[in-house]
Amino acid sequence: KKLSSNEVRQLFLDFFESKGHKVEPSASLVPFEDPTLLWINSGVATLKKYFDGSVIPENPRITNAQKSIRTNDIENVGKTARHHTLFEMLGNFSIGEYFKEEAIEWAWEFLTEDKWLGLDPEKLYVTVYPEDTEAKKIWKEKIGLTDDHIVDVADNFWDIGAGPSGPDSEIFYDRGEAFNDLAENDPENYPGGENERWLEIWNLVFSEFNHKPDGTYEPLPNKNIDTGMGLERVVSILQDAPTNFETDLFMPIIKKVETLSETKKYGKNPTDDISFKVIADHVRAVSFAIGDGALPSNEGRGYVLRRLLRRAVMHGKKLGIDEAFMYKLVPIVGSIMDSFYPEILEQEDFIIKVIKNEEERFHETINDGLTILNERITELKEKGETSIAGSDIFKLYDTYGFPVELTEEYAQDEGFNVDHEGFEKEMTAQRDRARAARSGEKSMGVQTKLFSDLKEDSIFVGYDKTTEMGTLE
Ligand code: ATP
Ligand code: MG
Ligand code: MG
Ligand code: MG
Repeated sequence: KKLSSNEVRQLFLDFFESKGHKVEPSASLVPFEDPTLLWINSGVATLKKYFDGSVIPENPRITNAQKSIRTNDIENVGKTARHHTLFEMLGNFSIGEYFKEEAIEWAWEFLTEDKWLGLDPEKLYVTVYPEDTEAKKIWKEKIGLTDDHIVDVADNFWDIGAGPSGPDSEIFYDRGEAFNDLAENDPENYPGGENERWLEIWNLVFSEFNHKPDGTYEPLPNKNIDTGMGLERVVSILQDAPTNFETDLFMPIIKKVETLSETKKYGKNPTDDISFKVIADHVRAVSFAIGDGALPSNEGRGYVLRRLLRRAVMHGKKLGIDEAFMYKLVPIVGSIMDSFYPEILEQEDFIIKVIKNEEERFHETINDGLTILNERITELKEKGETSIAGSDIFKLYDTYGFPVELTEEYAQDEGFNVDHEGFEKEMTAQRDRARAARSGEKSMGVQTKLFSDLKEDSIFVGYDKTTEMGTLE
């Protein structure tokens, strides 16, 4: 069945509405009154107030399509078929009302009935938490899955830190033998492993516990259902796309990037394709985040935006685009998403202005940095060297604000080994100097907290001079 992304999103909401759910709008990516999260990263993240009992919903059945940002997947973007920084999570929720049986039956009905998505049941596999015999029984007896379609997975336990948690059951789609070459040698190449062949599409969480801030778990008075299905992934299946990017959600953006690049075409060379994908991904995240009130800066959310934009700009360079261009993609993002997310076109001028300004500023420093890196590379090549020193990488980072992993990526593309350890050593030394210089200054409070979230993403380690990790002049 061939469906557009807009149709899939709408079908999902219609389906759950027909099962008595209230359709909630997609909430802002910037968490509201929730200091534990940098970004809304799932459908349930905006509904915590219902799950922890602090607010009682009018209707205990809720459904939504929630824009979400996950920085932990940044390094996967463009490399896997299925990861984005901004993606949409389609979810249905039960606040202390229906539980496992309905959640499983409805998920199955939506995926397999012709009236809805009409996927081939033979291609669907599920994972369950080994101790969750209840879920396993439902899959077997109510749905009729055979044992070879049900896989025990020990870490099927959903936990987002503070808040609701519990065992989960995930649904996978087997994209078939054709994808085995991509999945080859992958330790996860089995049903329930996650890779390019066995595509994880939907997570059904049976939340039975409250994870308290002190780290302990207490049973919830009412058991909840929280599910999340990745729209882009389901659309890739329905549109027979080899990756999420060859769908109506991304291709118009990629086509526009092709025209801006002039020399490069999508689908000709795997390295270029990564650049196209990263750009198409990041421009969505940045446009939506700015639309929701975040602005590029040196800390917290703004820092994420700055990093995403700079990363996209570097990939643009690889495609031969040497001037600000990301802002030109905003109208396309806006028109793709307009039927459900009018906020992009509504704020188009503002979003364009912010992105353009940020891009132009970055171009000024980038050109200086690239010249130096290229000189260094030429010099090293002449000497017959095959690796680039940590101190070189550090210098670019420190003096030109060059994102570390981009320097490394660039050097690797030029055939160099990269002394990442050496770079880390320089970083540590600099951190120590910064700490010494700072001792006695006032506590950095919330900033430090926000930054400690970022630190978990290795991609964000270090970089900006004015942040916790960098030097303070
Ligand atoms: P993965 O293992 O593929 O990283 P996940 O297990 O981290 O996904 P969940 O937290 O279970 O993801 O989220 C529910 C669903 O949201 C996933 O089954 C997937 O369809 C979708 N999803 C999660 N992360 C991403 C992402 N970075 N990009 C696109 N879709 C995603
Ligand atoms: Mg993940
Ligand atoms: Mg997973
Ligand atoms: Mg999952």
